[in-house]
Amino acid sequence: MTPIRFYNTLTNQLEDFAPIDPPVVRMYNCGPTVYDFAHIGNFRAFVFADLLRRFLEFTGHEVRQVMNITDVGHMTEDQLADGGGQDKMELAAQRLKAAKKSGVADVENPDDPFAVARYFEKAFIDDARALRLKIADDEAPRRPRATEHVKQMIAMIEKLVAADHAYVAGDGAVYYDVSSFPQYGKLSGNTLDKLAHGAGGRVSETDTAGKRNPHDFLLWKPDAKHLMKWDSPWGWGYPGWHIECSAMSMSALGVETLDIHTGGEDNIFPHHECEIAQSCGATGKAFARYWMHTRFLMVEGEKMSKSKGNFYTVRDLLKRGVDPAALRLELMRTHYRSNMNFTMKGLEDAHRMVERWRAAAAGVDAQSVAAGDSDVERDFVAALSDDLNISGALGAINKWLNDSPDDLSPLVRMNSVLGVLEAAELETETSGDDAAIDAKVQQMADARAAKDWAASDAIRDELTAAGIEVQISKQGITWRRKMTLD
Ligand SMILES: [Zn+2]
Repeated sequence: MTPIRFYNTLTNQLEDFAPIDPPVVRMYNCGPTVYDFAHIGNFRAFVFADLLRRFLEFTGHEVRQVMNITDVGHMTEDQLADGGGQDKMELAAQRLKAAKKSGVADVENPDDPFAVARYFEKAFIDDARALRLKIADDEAPRRPRATEHVKQMIAMIEKLVAADHAYVAGDGAVYYDVSSFPQYGKLSGNTLDKLAHGAGGRVSETDTAGKRNPHDFLLWKPDAKHLMKWDSPWGWGYPGWHIECSAMSMSALGVETLDIHTGGEDNIFPHHECEIAQSCGATGKAFARYWMHTRFLMVEGEKMSKSKGNFYTVRDLLKRGVDPAALRLELMRTHYRSNMNFTMKGLEDAHRMVERWRAAAAGVDAQSVAAGDSDVERDFVAALSDDLNISGALGAINKWLNDSPDDLSPLVRMNSVLGVLEAAELETETSGDDAAIDAKVQQMADARAAKDWAASDAIRDELTAAGIEVQISKQGITWRRKMTLD
């Protein structure tokens, strides 16, 4: 069998993959922050993690996958320094309150930040299930919540303080002392030396208040007024963002050294660099052996942004009638280390491929699908073994289908890695919300038909306040969720 090789961001090279404790593979994926619906850029990274898991399972590994749920509403250090930033969970709560008032979101108590977080966590799981991410069907401990691991975070911060990797600053906050960790910068290339000469982002005067080094980062912020707060040796407050992943990954996977850690490329610095500093600082051991990062997603050649109107969540697209199988394939079929250009044309191409596979797989008796050793499967596995060369793998399938093979059971087996054919319609409890929005939009259409523009505008304002964007055209009125906060 071809050896499996992955590109490791930590060493900047392709390496043969060998887990510490075969056949078990312990993998941690930086997961969603649940104060909003996850967008397709987020989901590109999650679909990649799912493909990686399924491929490793197909090749005989037992994958223990953990994906965290960040449910603490952090302010950035910039916002903290400015003193004016508003907590993102608080913003989400305000939006949800408006949405509840007009009947378009069913959240029990939008004043409760925990309820807000649960609402978006549920939405994430619904979306993940529609795209057939296995993590959505795992037991809840595989999706640890930050708010339920604060004890572990505090314990780790105490260890870091005791080991002189962290200190309590004049303002009472606890910071990690980056100068205490000589390997800082190994993952991202942003060594302290380079950072001192201006690489790795701006550092303002105010950022440095209380810190010994401008690049020291926050572990604990005392803030008795914060929306979500916990008691700690440094007073009531909340943990820094980076410490969450260090504490949760080790706690949920039960080891100090992970096999694989994944995330989007925007996580490399500072998030993952800081995770390494914290984890190695606390345990004295390597944190994760293979670091794998997905590149950015663009939409129609442009950066995805709300102002450009090219910002999509998974549910936006499914609501427009996009086949979830096609969406999954589209998010997966660009190599993870290439920037992906998401286009409607690409989505249509993916859909045609899905339809072709569906037709071919329809004739296969699922009972007859035993492990196989066909040429196409060997080519498929060889391609994916080469740093998840997805276009090679898809090419092998399509080329084989062109020859109209008699036995189509390999397609069903290969699909267990791709997970495309079982992707189904979005089933969501929040779809009750959609019916309420549809009803409002109908009222609006009725008001317009009666030339009652004031009534139509009033409904539109109500929907806008609830984060629903309404578009009126000759064809009628359409709507989409615009509940994006930043
Ligand atoms: Zn993380």
